[in-house]
Amino acid sequence: MSCAIYWFRNDLRLADNPALLQACDRAERLLPVYCHPNPEAQTRWGFVRVGRHRQRFLRDALDALDAALRARGSRLIEVVGAPTEQLKRIARAVGASEIHCEQIAAPEEQAAVESLRATDMSVCERWQSALFEQLPFELSQLPTQFTRFRVAIESAGDLPRAALPPAQQLPPLPVGIDDCAPSRPTASTTTCDHRSAFPYAQRDFCGASEAGLAHLKRYFNSDLPIRYKSTRNQLIGIDYSTKFSPWLATGAVSARQVHAALIEHERDQGRSDGSYWIWFELLWREYFRWLHRRHGARLYHPNGLNPKADLPSHDPTRFERWCRGECGHPLVDAGMRELAATGYLSNRMRQIVASYLIHELACDYRAGAAWFEAQLIDYDVYSNQGNWLYIAGRGTDPRGGRRFDPDWQARQYDPDERYRALWGDR
Ligand SMILES: Cc1cc2nc3c(=O)[nH]c(=O)nc-3n(C[C@H](O)[C@H](O)[C@H](O)COP(=O)(O)OP(=O)(O)OC[C@H]3O[C@@H](n4cnc5c(N)ncnc54)[C@H](O)[C@@H]3O)c2cc1C
Repeated sequence: MSCAIYWFRNDLRLADNPALLQACDRAERLLPVYCHPNPEAQTRWGFVRVGRHRQRFLRDALDALDAALRARGSRLIEVVGAPTEQLKRIARAVGASEIHCEQIAAPEEQAAVESLRATDMSVCERWQSALFEQLPFELSQLPTQFTRFRVAIESAGDLPRAALPPAQQLPPLPVGIDDCAPSRPTASTTTCDHRSAFPYAQRDFCGASEAGLAHLKRYFNSDLPIRYKSTRNQLIGIDYSTKFSPWLATGAVSARQVHAALIEHERDQGRSDGSYWIWFELLWREYFRWLHRRHGARLYHPNGLNPKADLPSHDPTRFERWCRGECGHPLVDAGMRELAATGYLSNRMRQIVASYLIHELACDYRAGAAWFEAQLIDYDVYSNQGNWLYIAGRGTDPRGGRRFDPDWQARQYDPDERYRALWGDR
């Protein structure tokens, strides 16, 4: 009897999950598994990789996924440790010969799959976190500028395919499941700061797929999308941007589900500058995904795609002050405090603090990217690396880097100093 493992990665949902559907079609017995990284694992910059906010948001996503699986005759096994060892061990315990999972086109995630294959496991990966499964041009022709990418996509006129419904029933669990020795990291007891722009401790904003889908519905049934273009650069509150990113990052909601809700909104309420701009931003997310498919590990070289760039400099003391929100610029410090207190930051503030670290404090952008990875509840390997490279002038940005003048930004986006007062030193 064929037995397989479904390895959940950044696709913590049952609906619109083609890799899972394929596993259900092929296996007579199926074991859903999630591998947590070792909670003590540190980055090379000296802090843990998964901070308390992300752990908490993830916990809710996993609990909801487990409940959804149980309702369909299955359940989720969680383990802690390197996927290669853990999955190999579990496969042996339950007699599985195949692993199914989503494809993640980033070097560490690819290395995990390669090392599984090196142990003779058969791994079936599926590209499914993007809007599109294929581009209307060869990957080798991926434009080096976002605008040309967007225009090429829009002029081809292709739309993402419809989101798929979930499997009604999963194959039964394999025998031997009791030998899997599940484990999970100690639950984070963190409480989210009441000032948060994404209050994940509230039920409406928790990591569960249902919460994400309900948020999507609420958002698109309101007039917020119509105003999105004019509010998206604001800094305070829940409504200035869509707040889809945390659910998109864990995969509790898929990009195609977001797109389907956007199209429905446009059908009901008409197209607006705001609704177009949501599509525009989703294309940025898409671009960074295809950029990874095209360039892979090159995006993780110190110089990224820019051979002419100097090697990044670094100053650990200045970096630590930046992390703590104590580098001396009131707007930047406020942003870094918001990030540490809530695990979320607006796009505008991400740009400002990232630019400050790179261009004013002359620190290594990779340290900043690692700090964001640890802190952000919406950490997404593609969007994080892509945006940091862009600001550092080491991605495909034709202008060779983005410096955001922090004083100008403060006057423009926090003219009444409300944001600085909200996150000021207390
Ligand atoms: C230095 C830096 C690091 C970042 N790291 C991440 C990250 O780890 N994870 C992440 O999801 N986003 C990241 N972003 C992008 C962006 O800041 C967030 O996607 C956005 O702020 C999330 O809030 P929202 O869902 O309300 O976005 P909205 O403004 O409502 O946008 C709608 C959706 O479009 C996508 N999007 C918007 N802006 C971008 C962008 N610049 N790049 C890629 N996708 C975008 C997101 O999926 C977002 O959910 C980063 C930006 C910067 C400048």
